[in-house]
Amino acid sequence: MKILIINAGSSSLKYQFMESEGGEVFAKGLCERIGIDGRLTHKVPGREDVKQDIPMPTHSEAIQAVLDIMVDPQKGVIASTDEIAAVGHRVLHGGMAFTKSCIIDDACIAAIEKCIPLGPLHNPANLMGIRACQAIMPNTPQVAVFDTAFHMTMPPKAYIYAIPYEYYEKDDVRRYGFHGTSHRYVSARAIDMLGNPEHSKVICCHLGNGSSLSAVVDGKCVDTTMGLGPLAGFPMGTRSGDVDATILEYLMGRYGYDIKEMLNILNKKSGVLGISGVSSDFRDLDDAAAQGNERAALALEKFVYEVKKFIGAYASAMGGVDAIVFTAGIGENSCDLRQKICEGLSYMGVEMDAEKNNVRGKEVDVSAAGSKVKVFVIPTNEELMIAMDTAELCKK
Ligand code: ADP
Repeated sequence: MKILIINAGSSSLKYQFMESEGGEVFAKGLCERIGIDGRLTHKVPGREDVKQDIPMPTHSEAIQAVLDIMVDPQKGVIASTDEIAAVGHRVLHGGMAFTKSCIIDDACIAAIEKCIPLGPLHNPANLMGIRACQAIMPNTPQVAVFDTAFHMTMPPKAYIYAIPYEYYEKDDVRRYGFHGTSHRYVSARAIDMLGNPEHSKVICCHLGNGSSLSAVVDGKCVDTTMGLGPLAGFPMGTRSGDVDATILEYLMGRYGYDIKEMLNILNKKSGVLGISGVSSDFRDLDDAAAQGNERAALALEKFVYEVKKFIGAYASAMGGVDAIVFTAGIGENSCDLRQKICEGLSYMGVEMDAEKNNVRGKEVDVSAAGSKVKVFVIPTNEELMIAMDTAELCKK
């Protein structure tokens, strides 16, 4: 089935048009500066990229621009928008309402709206993308795929915060977790690679600009590092990860920050950028550290240390581990960080093969022969998961 995948942000919209069986990508691209002016970048494999300035006052014009270029006789890939069998939308926060993907109808939209307080930046943008598609393609089925859904199998002891229980009961305060579509994809691939789908304990390390780990037993998530929001866990490109709440009170008192300013610091100025003062991009940090920048080296060391700690914690929580998976920009590409994260884990049966580990962006077992715990590099494919869910729900 040919599926259009939409990932709508507040001023941008990513799209990918692909086959749900086999995953062939026909076209993909990005609308930027929605609400400002509007720019479209359209990519078709084997052709030169197309960049166009197109006015996009709202997400509707952006979606229309995507459909126009898809059917353009020169730049397009289809003769008519009727060839789009369905649209799959990436939606950030499904709260407790969504444990899996669902066909978008009025009830689904109302439930996504109810989750806006939990995902105040993303859910409204996701809804704009959904509504724009509904208006322009009223007869094409639409499906919502949630970043949080895969984690909804966590047991209460993993998702409950140790604050007064009434905040969970009345206000839905709990751990939700994100990158769920990626964790679902790579854990399923890992289980396939392990060849023992009945019993498996997998730790997935999604290491990108935003990063999270998940612990997956027999295909079901039992814990993850992100929380009510994506700020939790270990340090990321610009996010702090878990911090002692006392720091907030202390800095807000000293500098007179309000909570918005404080959260902006924790979200945008912290993580490896905050420690290094150099960059949030791990390639820049590698370069700076190689040239002797001590703070860049410390930022990398901190990142490795915290990921390693969570691996230990999750192995402990699951009572063992069969495979550790590395995915996303850093996980797929940085041989060095993978090596360092797995260093010193031989006590729990993790042995890496340095030569096999010298790989980028390919699905490979990089553990040493005889390693009790497998180490896999698995490029994530959230779009394929969204396409597969969309096709499956639409066939029903
Ligand atoms: P996003 O969360 O935006 O999807 P990605 O998964 O694309 O992010 O990951 C982006 C991160 O991957 C950046 O920090 C970048 O530095 C890192 N990255 C990409 N290639 C490499 C590499 N060869 N070595 C180290 N880090 C890399």
